[in-house]
Amino acid sequence: MSEINSFTIAQQQLDEAAAILGLDPATHALLREPMRELTVNIPVRMDDGSMHVFKGYRVQYNDARGPGKGGVRWHPDETLDTIRALAAWMTWKTAVVDIPLGGSTGGVICNPKELSPTEQERLARGYIRAIWRILGENADVPAPDVYTNPQIMAWMMDEYSVIRGYNAPGIVTGKPIAVGGSAGRNEATALGAMYVTREAAKMLELDLQGATAAIQGYGSVGRYTHKMAQEVLGLKVVAVSDSQGGIYNPAGLDYNAVLRHKRETGSVTDMPNTTALSNEALLEMDVTVLFPAALEGVITERNAANIKAKICAELANGPTTPEADRILEADRILHERGVYVLPDFLCNAGGVTVSYFEQVQNAYGFYWSLELVQQRLDAKMTAAFHAVHRMVKAKRGVHNRLAAYLVAVERVAEAAKLRGWI
Ligand code: GLU
Repeated sequence: MSEINSFTIAQQQLDEAAAILGLDPATHALLREPMRELTVNIPVRMDDGSMHVFKGYRVQYNDARGPGKGGVRWHPDETLDTIRALAAWMTWKTAVVDIPLGGSTGGVICNPKELSPTEQERLARGYIRAIWRILGENADVPAPDVYTNPQIMAWMMDEYSVIRGYNAPGIVTGKPIAVGGSAGRNEATALGAMYVTREAAKMLELDLQGATAAIQGYGSVGRYTHKMAQEVLGLKVVAVSDSQGGIYNPAGLDYNAVLRHKRETGSVTDMPNTTALSNEALLEMDVTVLFPAALEGVITERNAANIKAKICAELANGPTTPEADRILEADRILHERGVYVLPDFLCNAGGVTVSYFEQVQNAYGFYWSLELVQQRLDAKMTAAFHAVHRMVKAKRGVHNRLAAYLVAVERVAEAAKLRGWI
């Protein structure tokens, strides 16, 4: 996250799309910057009695198509620019998957691994007390992201409800089911990626049954990707990693065994009957599908030419830099060696899509079955894939990420224009 500025990247990607769409200067300027951003300092009582002040953010990038929506990330390397980038990508994500929401993201600079559960609870509540004025079921609705989870969402929902004096389940999504969460939300990001990977494979005439996969990251997205890749696509997951390093077994890694090992030891590394490998080596493995499911900036000009996967399904936000995109694309066009990239804000839109379903269920207090959630998620993801694919064909020569931008930016610009903003 350090040397690469994700927000500069997000702006460059938009600039490229704006040029092709011929966006007028005012629209381009509006879409290039967040509409609103808030920085807060949150005092938290630590377990030893001392006070610690944490810095937090909420960036509301654009709400032309509907209320802001997006996660809250807790990470030691967080900056205002990482949050701005994520909020921009949320704007394109909700647009490409065509749900009536805008894009926001929040974050707190902290290392949650060093915080006790009670400190985490006080931080979650403190964060909501600091930003509640700009939140609202029809204004901006947070959700989980890196190092936040359903329990943290429950505390946030409770704090907001206490402040407002009524029960407000729809103020946060990704909640546990017992307090208004949706069936299928936890695995939704991973499952959504399976649907678009399935569509890509059909198009590429690739048989995924028994084909190999590698997953970078074993947080809530990465581990469900392991489960879903096996269950939904019949892929054989041969390598996984987390921030400590990776493991490899050509015969395939059993989901339950890896999860148990990670729960017991805190990492996937050193699991019996596996070979150790680095995160860098995992990305360059000769597998059919590569799932980067950790942080941004992992596929760069340094390693792009070494990526061997046939499909790169981006579950992380911003894993690939623009230079890497160009290298991957040149390979595909010039050498037909091709990595077929499923760009992040298309591929990982399943999470926010089921968040939207959660909002809908909260709004009318009537809950759907897991089956119904999955059916509707499949329909949304499949439609989004084909909208992007149609754009690739219509504008011959654009790569998938740029096509996804064209679809999304066009929709946001149309809404902004209709509202009289530009
Ligand atoms: N943090 C997730 C993302 O980046 C989910 C956001 C949401 O559900 O609002 O897509």
